Amino acid sequence: MGALPEPTDLQVAISVAQQLLDSDQVLSLREALRLLLRALDAEPVSTTVDTPRCPAAHPDDPDPCSGPPVVTVLDTHQVGAHGCEHHATRLLASLDGGRVYPLPDAPEGAAIRVFKAAAVTAPYAWVKRGAGQ
Ligand SMILES: [Zn+2]
Repeated sequence: MGALPEPTDLQVAISVAQQLLDSDQVLSLREALRLLLRALDAEPVSTTVDTPRCPAAHPDDPDPCSGPPVVTVLDTHQVGAHGCEHHATRLLASLDGGRVYPLPDAPEGAAIRVFKAAAVTAPYAWVKRGAGQ
């Protein structure tokens, strides 16, 4: 809310978007959209493959994160990985004797949700099975 002389992120994003409005460069358009969304604080949590995912995401699992990391999943060797609810659920479901703990700033009930969802999630849920569920 200061009186800074520099244009705001939104102003920059709008001017970039205006310049690119007639562009047929998909990547430039995508970048402009991204700038705009960022300026509006309305970025999608995760977009495509170039978005880093939480450590709990299996490399073969194509799904984007469902949000920021909110839990730690520990295996029986006490090796842990931070994960969003989605990937933590899948990781926990794939572990034998895995456990889940909320991170300090996790929303209420995140670990419980992961625990319950993992109970009804098939191990290695990202693997396409012929007759899977
Ligand atoms: Zn994730």
